[in-house]
Amino acid sequence: MKSYQGMISLIVPAFNEEENLPVLVHRLMNVMKPYESYEILIIDDGSSDQSRYVLRQLSKAYSVVRFLSFSRNFGHQMALRAGYQNARGEAVICLDADLQHPPELIPTLIDKWREGYEVVYTVRQADPKLSWFKRTTSKYFYSVLRKVSNLQIEDGAADFRLLDRKVVDTINQFKENDLFLRGAISWVGFRQCRVLYEPAARYAGRSKYSFRKMLKLAAMGITSFSTRPLYLSVLLGFGMSLFATLFGAEVLYEYFFTNATVSGWTTLVVLMALIGGVQFIMIGIIGVYLGKTFVEVKQRPAYIINDTSEIEETETIWQAQIEENVYYSPSM
Ligand code: UDP
Ligand code: MG
Repeated sequence: MKSYQGMISLIVPAFNEEENLPVLVHRLMNVMKPYESYEILIIDDGSSDQSRYVLRQLSKAYSVVRFLSFSRNFGHQMALRAGYQNARGEAVICLDADLQHPPELIPTLIDKWREGYEVVYTVRQADPKLSWFKRTTSKYFYSVLRKVSNLQIEDGAADFRLLDRKVVDTINQFKENDLFLRGAISWVGFRQCRVLYEPAARYAGRSKYSFRKMLKLAAMGITSFSTRPLYLSVLLGFGMSLFATLFGAEVLYEYFFTNATVSGWTTLVVLMALIGGVQFIMIGIIGVYLGKTFVEVKQRPAYIINDTSEIEETETIWQAQIEENVYYSPSM
């Protein structure tokens, strides 16, 4: 995507956020008033409510509003990637549609960028408004992630950040579909700066991150950036073998030097269960990585765009591509 000089892009993934979108756009436009050139790019992640209609109205009413609409729900991370791939700004800021990421913090992020930082990320301060469940799961997730990978992602880091065009272009070069952005951004380096903020309460509606989606994100985060869990199974294997050797020695000792009767049933059952369990764990871990490889080698498009604010252009592109019978993701 070609970038425009001095332009700032705000990208917002939205899944069933119809009540939030108009308020969000107004708050953002208010904050962005002092800036000469900016765009608000909203990615509708296959919403089933009226989001798409609302977005069309907003993009008609305000030239700074653009949108992309996925053909189905591809998930928050995919929506963000589509945002990065279609943003035209020299700095790209992403934030949630529910106004939990205060738009009023945007000028601070931009100031830091102008000071020369290429990644300005935010860290959510422990906040009692957040549910106990969210706080605890997030804390444990990051501590596990730090242990199994070499990434230093802080507790409470979320996808509310500013990236310089250089970093966005780098991220856009990543070929893998299953990309954990927080990890990727920590991994690429560049000059990074941290800003603390207090999250607000969700403006309207309920959280769109179900427990299942959170688990998926956690598994993706861990397996995208680390193969250490595979070594864990090797370690377990060694542990088991050591145990078996010692146990074997003990059994042999008993056989040769004591009169202990053959009462091996308990031992056998316990050992079989233990080895069986460990083997299942190891096969499971290998299976997870094999499954990831399988998904990646297929090289499917990471997401599919169904509608955009620049629909006239894309319609012709779609037709041309259908005739050639190749897949094409209309970029704008
Ligand atoms: N979101 C999305 N696709 C999804 C789930 C969520 O685009 O499948 C968006 C959602 O609309 C919001 C952001 O991701 O803008 C964060 O989601 P949410 O506020 O529900 O998560 P929470 O703040 O509860 O962690
Ligand atoms: Mg939220």
